[in-house]
Amino acid sequence: MAYQTVNPANNQLIKAYPSHTDADVEAALKTADTLYHSEWAKGDISQRLPVLHKLADLIDSRTEELAKIASQEMGKLIEQSRSEVKLCAQIARYYADNAKQFLAPVTYKTELGDAWVEHHPIGVVMAVEPWNFPFYQLMRVLAPNFAAGNPVIAKHASIVPHCAEAFEHLVREAGAPDGAWTNLFISSDQVANIIADPRVQGAALTGSEKAGSVVAAQAAKHIKKSTLELGGNDVFMVLDDADLENAVEIGVKARLANAGQVCTAAKRFILHEKIADQFLAKFTEAFSKVKVGDPFDESTTLGPLSSKDALETLTKQVNEAVKNGAKLHFGGKPVQREGNFFEPTILTQISRDNPAYFEEFFGPVAQVYVVKSDDEAVSLANDSHYGLGGAVFSRDIERAKKMASQIETGMVYINWLTDTAAELPFGGVKRSGYGRELSDLGIKEFVNQKLVVVRQ
Ligand code: NAP
Repeated sequence: MAYQTVNPANNQLIKAYPSHTDADVEAALKTADTLYHSEWAKGDISQRLPVLHKLADLIDSRTEELAKIASQEMGKLIEQSRSEVKLCAQIARYYADNAKQFLAPVTYKTELGDAWVEHHPIGVVMAVEPWNFPFYQLMRVLAPNFAAGNPVIAKHASIVPHCAEAFEHLVREAGAPDGAWTNLFISSDQVANIIADPRVQGAALTGSEKAGSVVAAQAAKHIKKSTLELGGNDVFMVLDDADLENAVEIGVKARLANAGQVCTAAKRFILHEKIADQFLAKFTEAFSKVKVGDPFDESTTLGPLSSKDALETLTKQVNEAVKNGAKLHFGGKPVQREGNFFEPTILTQISRDNPAYFEEFFGPVAQVYVVKSDDEAVSLANDSHYGLGGAVFSRDIERAKKMASQIETGMVYINWLTDTAAELPFGGVKRSGYGRELSDLGIKEFVNQKLVVVRQ
C-alpha cells in the first residue's frame, strides 16, 4: 500500500512517502529489542515516566499545528482535531501520573507463604492502527506500553503518514530513547514478518474485522498475545420517558462526529414507539441544518469522508440497503461537490434480511428502528455480530441501568453518547474484538503478571 497524504476535501495529492524496506524493518526490530534488554525496560518505572509528562506538555503546546495536520490529512473538522490532540496529552499525563501505582506489586493471601504478583514488560509490541483518530489511536498504545517498558513498532494507516511521522517526532523530542516508538511505512506482509519474529511478544490492532482477524491469526500462530479493537454497530436507545431535546442533540453528535467515522458512533437508533415520531421529526430537522463543507471552516458541521474509497463503499452500502427494502427517510447520496462528502442520511424500515441490518456504516448514516418495549429494544440491540458500545436515554436511571446490564457490549453510557477518557477502559466483545485499552486495564494487557512466592 502506498503511503500518501491526499486532502479528502478535494482529493489533491499533497505528499507521497517512501515505504520502509526489509532492512529498515530489521534495523527497527534490533533497536527495539536492544532497548527491551536495557536498563530502560528492566529498571524502575520512575525513570520512564518523565518522558510521558514532557510529551503531554509538548502536545499541549502544539495543539494547533497537530490539529491542522489531522484535518488536512483525513478531513476531521478542525475543532474535533483540536479535541483529539488535547485528549492525547491527557492520556500521556494520565499514565505518567498513575502507571507506577497500576504496576505496583499486588499481594495474594496463601498458605504457601508470602506471595505477590509483579508487573514486568514482555518485549516488543507490534501496533497496527487506523486513520480515524490518527493521533489518539497511537497514544492509546504508546502511553501504557512506554510506561510498562515495552518498545513499540507501529504501522499506521497508509492514508495518514503525516500524522504517523509527526507523532514519532514528538515522542523523540520528548526524550524517548531509540526504539521506544518506531513508525514504519510497511506492507501487510512486513507486518506479518514482524509478528512472526521471536523478538516480538505482542500485537495490538485497531481497525476492521478483516484486518483484525488476519493479524490475530498471525499472532496466534506464533503464540503471541493480541488485543483487537474492531468495528461496532452501537445502539442509541431512546426510551419513552427520555428528555427528547437532549437525546436528539446528543444523538446528532453521536452519529455525525468525525463524519460518522467512529467505531463507537451511534449507528442504530432504537426508538420506543411512543416517542418515535417525535424523535424522528426533531432528528431529521437537525440533520437538515447540517452544514457540509471545508473542515477548516469553523462553521462547518460535517466534513468529508477520509478517502474516495470510503465514499464509494458508503454509497454502495446505502444503495444496497434501499434496494433491499429500506426507506430513505433523508439524504442518501454523495454531495455534488469536489471531495468525499456524503449527505447526512437517515434510513428506516430496515428488515432483518436486509444486509444493512448487520452492517457497520462508517459515515453519516443513521439507521432507525422502532420498538414496543424495553425487552424488544434489548433483543434488537443484541441481535448484532458486534459488541462495542451503546447508549440508553431515559429519565429513569434504574430502568436504564437494568437495560445497560443486559446489552452485550463492552461499554454502555446512560444519557450520554459512547465516549472515551484516559481513565476509562475501552473495548468490546463479540466481533468488536477483545482486550481493553486505556485505564488500569489497558496497561495490563502487555505485561508479565509474574507470581513470586516465598515459602515460610
Ligand atoms: P482497516 O482497513 O482494518 O485498517 C486499519 C489498519 O490495519 C491500517 O493500518 C491498515 O493498513 C491495516 N491493515 C489492513 N489490513 C491489514 C493486514 N492484512 N495486515 C496488517 N495490517 C493491515 O480499517 P479501516 O476500515 O481503515 O478503519 C475503520 C475500521 O476500524 C472500522 O471498522 C472501525 O469501526 C474500526 N475502528 C475501531 C476502533 C476501536 O477502538 N474499536 C477505533 C477506530 C476504528 P492500510 O491503511 O495500509 O490498509
